[in-house]
Amino acid sequence: MKDNSISKIQHSTLLYWYDGYIKRAERNRLNNHKSGLIWFTGLSASGKSTVAHLVEKKLWQQGIRTYVLDGDNVRHGLNIDLGFGREDRKENLRRIVEVCKLMVDAGLVVLTAFISPYKEDRSYVKSKLKDDYIEIYVKCSVEECERRDPKGLYKKARDGIIKNYTGISAPYEDPGAPDLVLETEKLDIGTTVEVVLDFLKGKDFLIDEFYR
Ligand code: ADP
Repeated sequence: MKDNSISKIQHSTLLYWYDGYIKRAERNRLNNHKSGLIWFTGLSASGKSTVAHLVEKKLWQQGIRTYVLDGDNVRHGLNIDLGFGREDRKENLRRIVEVCKLMVDAGLVVLTAFISPYKEDRSYVKSKLKDDYIEIYVKCSVEECERRDPKGLYKKARDGIIKNYTGISAPYEDPGAPDLVLETEKLDIGTTVEVVLDFLKGKDFLIDEFYR
């Protein structure tokens, strides 16, 4: 097969970073809020998408420019060529992170709903986004997620139809020190969303004194 890839040395000599006139700070000023990444992690059916989309709706109503990146949606297009083995999951995440960085640079508040089961991967995201990153652990037992099973995927995993399914046949590594934990087994959806909004407000993550 023909190799079209550019070597690392060629990369450093052929590619230049073009610095635009409009910087992130200007975009943030125009929007009247900071940009950043709110990363929801947790088992499938723990509630990541539900909460991310409802939080987005509330933020949007406050005039905050947002975008939700959802696991399945990304795999429909950008990452359609990737599977669920360890290496493909890594590449899936690498591409997602690059998209998040561009969106944050463009001035958006990005909310993501990815299982992201490996500590190593979440550390990678944090290392790339640094202070622009907030990790929210959507905590729910496998038993409850399996009971909810909104897409019928746990059943398929139990029946062996789906391999490498997080929580059943692939691991989920609990976040050691997330910025926030949402126990969706104990809280109703409305309260869960309020907890996130209060947390963001308390941390001045989106709007600090500069923008008030
Ligand atoms: P995920 O994105 O983590 O795969 P989903 O948001 O698609 O999960 O599904 C979560 C399911 O759990 C939904 O059917 C939702 O109604 C239900 N649910 C029950 N309690 C909560 C809660 N407190 N927060 C979020 N979802 C909840």
